[in-house]
Amino acid sequence: MTAPTDRMTAALEDYASWQGPLYEDLHRHPELSMLEDRTRAKITAQLTEYGYEVQTIGGGVVGVLTNGDGPTVLLRADVDGLPVQEASDLPYASVHTQVDAAGEVVHTMHACGHDFHIVAGLGAARLLAKHREDWSGTYIALFQPGEEIAAGAQAMVDDGLVEKLPRPDVCLGQHVMTTPVAGKVAVAPGPMLSSAVSMRVVLHGSGSHGSMPHLGIDPVVLAAAIVTRIQTLVSREIAPGDFGVVTVGSLHAGSSANVIPDRAEMQLNFRAYDEQILDHLVEGVRRMVRAECEAARSPQPPTIELFNHFPLTDNDEAVSETVRRAFVEHFGAERVEQMAPSTGSEDFSIIPDAFGAPYCYWIFGGFAEGREIAPNHSPLFAPDQQPTLRVGTEAAVAAVLAHLGAPAGAAQG
Ligand SMILES: [Zn+2]
Ligand SMILES: [Zn+2]
Repeated sequence: MTAPTDRMTAALEDYASWQGPLYEDLHRHPELSMLEDRTRAKITAQLTEYGYEVQTIGGGVVGVLTNGDGPTVLLRADVDGLPVQEASDLPYASVHTQVDAAGEVVHTMHACGHDFHIVAGLGAARLLAKHREDWSGTYIALFQPGEEIAAGAQAMVDDGLVEKLPRPDVCLGQHVMTTPVAGKVAVAPGPMLSSAVSMRVVLHGSGSHGSMPHLGIDPVVLAAAIVTRIQTLVSREIAPGDFGVVTVGSLHAGSSANVIPDRAEMQLNFRAYDEQILDHLVEGVRRMVRAECEAARSPQPPTIELFNHFPLTDNDEAVSETVRRAFVEHFGAERVEQMAPSTGSEDFSIIPDAFGAPYCYWIFGGFAEGREIAPNHSPLFAPDQQPTLRVGTEAAVAAVLAHLGAPAGAAQG
């Protein structure tokens, strides 16, 4: 285990001078999931300049730096923005629009702070490249597209990630959040982010005049019965101590007051810390949707499809402890908190799981004490540029070095 040297920590003082402008440029130009061309070009240029061997894999960018014998450590940063119109008053607020996958022009925003992840990841890559005398092993700087739609990690794996890279001994990832406060980090072992999946349901009815409901089959009443019925899944079928969420986030049917429509569409979202519970909830909704359709005399079976499957993020015990100790050593115990499990989700773990490598995912704060907080994905989400960038960079370097080898010739501790 090694730690950032005084040389490295001193070098970070100068980092604001290039990280700030790069961050503001990325913040102004966020790109939608799996459409991150400009962002990829920026990252590629930086990694190439630092001396990394750079590859484009599945829409992402990976830089490999080989520095003698020793462990291989991978740090992943996600890079995509969201289809959100920024409402912050930042001088570097997003000015970007982009044509989305459906052909619509949409405003884009780094409303989840992935621009911090990119710049912190590049900061760590640059520092490790400049101070090769302070560590040994192989460092993999991985920049992943499409996190927000759970597509990017899988796209990289499908494009041969495992064959194209040396196998990491450990994988690391981080996220800027509204808590802890800016300047602090939080980490813990075990399930930290929930497993999640979304479902699209199309219900079939039979159209009629609003005055003659007996001549049709009303999909609005059918959908309403389903929404009410599925509330019993978590409350009656899952043990009270277990965690699960089922949300109907979208429900559409009809367009006028006096027409009974012939279909209704629903979109649901499921969360759990246990894949078996997630499966139970999904199967429960399938069962209830089919049964309600039958009860309503629906003329055609419903169509049900799953999308955006996020796996569980379950931090490895030993890796998390090494990361926690590195943070305490680097930041001081008062700046390291115990991370609480969140109902949010991530596709990060697809990458370590593809390699069969243990992993740890931690969070760092973006909002100074006392500042009004806008949550991730809000059009007002605007973490403080500093100390957030610096803390993200330091956390990455400290966690990576804690898993790399000591410099060649140094006494192995
Ligand atoms: Zn997000
Ligand atoms: Zn995010």
